[in-house]
Amino acid sequence: MTDSRAGNPVARASALRKIYGESPDPVVALDEVSLQVHAGEFLAVCGPSGCGKSTLLLTIGLLLRPDAGDLEIADQNIAELSPSRQSSFRAQNIGFVFQDFHLIPYLNVLENVLVPTLAQPLSDASARAEMLLEEMGLAARHDHLPSELSAGERQRTALVRALMLRPRLILADEPTGNLDRENADCVLNHLAHYSEVGGAVVMATHDEGAMMRAGRRVLMDKGRIVGSDDGGNKR
Ligand code: ADP
Ligand code: MG
Repeated sequence: MTDSRAGNPVARASALRKIYGESPDPVVALDEVSLQVHAGEFLAVCGPSGCGKSTLLLTIGLLLRPDAGDLEIADQNIAELSPSRQSSFRAQNIGFVFQDFHLIPYLNVLENVLVPTLAQPLSDASARAEMLLEEMGLAARHDHLPSELSAGERQRTALVRALMLRPRLILADEPTGNLDRENADCVLNHLAHYSEVGGAVVMATHDEGAMMRAGRRVLMDKGRIVGSDDGGNKR
């Protein structure tokens, strides 16, 4: 995470298009969406339910293939990667946080946050896990199962898991959707902090409080970007 904000974007999406289903009832979930996110940025993707926020994050996160358009992450043209390389590239460069946490129910907190290091070994995995869990106030929760945690603790565990491999890019899809205000603020503080130390963070949200914590906002409607508060994504 050494890019300066003036460098190349961590993620550059150009004219992404994604259509679900087929005629006569196709849903155009992404309609020529272009977006750039730089290191050090905290970007909120806003808009009503169904406008395409999750589809955009899944596409940028290489979990969904666009039907058209180009995607570059960390200077890598994604179309040039084989599916298996995409998977390791994703693990190395992208961390995900979801509204409903996606923790593995039969693994404890420590085991859950170490999952990314099974595929991508990390020399300081245990020390990093301990440090991040401590930072997130989860030091006393190592051996608890997700079912024994509050929603806030579950989301902080998911956040530690997303940060384990020091990804260039964090994608958070409605990360505060299941949290009370206090826990939401805590998660937003950690996302903001990750951008302040050089990460790129993209958060989909329709929560006004969450939107305002981001450094920049784009607004989606019906699969298109219809507005942004920086005068059109210029830098
Ligand atoms: P948001 O996250 O903003 O609520 P989504 O990206 O989930 O929006 O959905 C965008 C549109 O695509 C919606 O109309 C939704 O119903 C549709 N959609 C999402 N996922 C699928 C899918 N797997 N199959 C068909 N339609 C989908
Ligand atoms: Mg969504």
